[in-house]
Amino acid sequence: MKRLKFLSFSMAACIVCLLTMTSCSAAEVPAASGGAGMDSAKLTSEAQSASTFSDVPSGAWYAEAINYCQQHGIMSGTTATTFAPEATLTRAMLATALHRMSGTPAVSDAPVFSDTVAGFWYSDALSWAAKNGIISGYGDGTFGVNDPTTREQAVTILWRYAGEPEGATAADISDAALVSTWAKAAVRWANANGILEGITNNRRFDPKTNIKRGEVASMLYHYLSNTTSSQPEPAAGGRTLVAYFSATNTTRPLAEYAADILNADLYELVPEVPYTDADLAYYTNGRADREQNDSTARPAISGNVENMADYDVIFLGYPIWHGQPPRIISTFLERYDFAGKTIVPFCTSHSSGYSDSSIKSLAPGANWITGRRFAGGTSRSTMEEWINGLALPQPETAVDAVTSATGKAGFNLETKSVTLNSGYEMPINGLGTYSLHGETCVNSVKSALASGVRLIDTASAYGNEEEVGQAIREAIDEGTIKREDVFVITKIYPGSEMANPEQSIQACLDRLDIDYVDMMLLHHPDRNDVKAYQAMEKFVEEGKIRSLGLSNWYVRELESFLPQVTIPPALVQNEIHPYYQENDVIPYIQDLGIVVQGSYPLGGRGHTAELLGDEVISRIAKAHGVSSAQVILRWNLQKGVVVIPGSSNPDHIKENTELYGFQLTDAEMAQINALDRNEKDDWY
Ligand code: NAP
Repeated sequence: MKRLKFLSFSMAACIVCLLTMTSCSAAEVPAASGGAGMDSAKLTSEAQSASTFSDVPSGAWYAEAINYCQQHGIMSGTTATTFAPEATLTRAMLATALHRMSGTPAVSDAPVFSDTVAGFWYSDALSWAAKNGIISGYGDGTFGVNDPTTREQAVTILWRYAGEPEGATAADISDAALVSTWAKAAVRWANANGILEGITNNRRFDPKTNIKRGEVASMLYHYLSNTTSSQPEPAAGGRTLVAYFSATNTTRPLAEYAADILNADLYELVPEVPYTDADLAYYTNGRADREQNDSTARPAISGNVENMADYDVIFLGYPIWHGQPPRIISTFLERYDFAGKTIVPFCTSHSSGYSDSSIKSLAPGANWITGRRFAGGTSRSTMEEWINGLALPQPETAVDAVTSATGKAGFNLETKSVTLNSGYEMPINGLGTYSLHGETCVNSVKSALASGVRLIDTASAYGNEEEVGQAIREAIDEGTIKREDVFVITKIYPGSEMANPEQSIQACLDRLDIDYVDMMLLHHPDRNDVKAYQAMEKFVEEGKIRSLGLSNWYVRELESFLPQVTIPPALVQNEIHPYYQENDVIPYIQDLGIVVQGSYPLGGRGHTAELLGDEVISRIAKAHGVSSAQVILRWNLQKGVVVIPGSSNPDHIKENTELYGFQLTDAEMAQINALDRNEKDDWY
């Protein structure tokens, strides 16, 4: 699941929900029926049955949606007889509804928030939502359980839940311009799929208005009815295994259905000593009775799954014997390493309930999805509905594999770009222009553009925005690039610039003179930084700046700054090189969904000699037939850090783009990591 980081900042300043914690808990007491396996085929007939809520008249526009959500255990009432459709919906309520919608999966290693209570009605849902990046906590360690949710936030959260599908190019709503940048893709998708029906009034969406419970029911109802195909796909064949034990052929057909539906491999746990009818006779102190009474019994399995490492998801089918999985399931679970894999149990029984509690501890590190009990003779379509409703991990693509090599979602070494939380794509290698002036600057930028560089970093303080703008305009005129091909970053400086931000921002735009700026950063923290950032937010709303970011911002600064702004920073640019690695800061920023960009990647102009001549780096460079500079830049990229080396030398500029034809091994990464001296070139 993708990570929703940005909502944490934008909502931090929201007022506390009018509902108290107590009334919220009353509002979302666990529903009687589970939410697993949302069945869009049944939507119409079931949703039309009469409401049990006195405040949901049968003719109300939201009645059908509320009834559906209630009947499928997605949302319950605020009391046994009321739903409160006009009441504000809190973050905890939305997390709970989505958690139920995905089948109430169990959560392990859950994030802990200082404002949540373990074992409360929302606890698992919050942990699940945060862990899967659907709704993250705030930067201060709280979740904001009772905070309201705006319409654009709710739609974005649902979009994240749906796997961030592509939407239309434009939303057919009259106030699309008011939608925050980070929510635009979600709103377009929701609009294209009819999910905004019931939330819009005369094509007006009112993105900043707090969403109500009735509106959320409508949103979820339309999502389930209109976007079946956009729900998470089952994992593709070859990566999913359906393993099952079936002594009496009751579980077997369900396993076969599952393998067929999932396009998965099928594996039967065949006991070395088959079970006879006598073995299976209950309460005779026969073999099954004895094994089930002995938690250490481990009936041997004939054969092996030799390629277990290839599977990410294991569906595990078994009958229920004396209320538990047969002990042969324990044998299976103890035989392999399931760490990092997802296990989805399904069991068959005519009388007993679902059971997995005795086996979960046998697969340490596995992600268990709460499964389901089926009666013998269950149809294929029932299995299909259940499987389609599960939030299974997405199959990894080749691109994902490269992405995961960097460990940073959205950071793609194949496309050489990263998707920012603002929705824009940014190249992951560029040119820094600090200390480049006049003709040197113009020529360097044009040389970079001619070499395929599409990311240029400048700043008001560098005094060269005019030259950068000139080079870009000339390259456009000469047909080297189009404006939209190049991503330009500039920055405003502390002191008088941040004290008069509107003026300073406009001055940057004027000096660059390239229609708009792709990203503007605050160059350093300053007493007016929040004010300056808020001014930049206004320029984003006006379309003059596309994304925002910060520079020279560290953990403490981010913690205090982020809750005060609305548009989450898309990037933090800090000094990063092998002698100053920021190993605590980089993951902190990246975990917030913010891209990290390294300044001074080669140690800084005038200070590169020692780093480029470093024995370890030189040896690694020689092994790969590349330069020390390329090794350092590649090391950054493999950490998910964007690089902007500065250069006025066309050969260096070109060399600095050739970073994708080799890969540093884990050992080489570790050797460079060991060079950290905490030696900052530029102490601020
Ligand atoms: P840098 O990129 O670490 O180093 C630039 C130096 O490396 C130049 O002397 C350059 O010389 C040399 N160089 C570049 N490529 C080379 C190669 N392939 N082989 C050998 N030498 C090479 O330092 P920087 O330019 O100061 O920093 C990079 C960018 O980060 C800046 O331009 C700026 O955009 C940004 N920055 C931001 C901040 C901030 O506070 N936000 C602070 C500093 C920098 P040649 O010209 O001869 O190639």
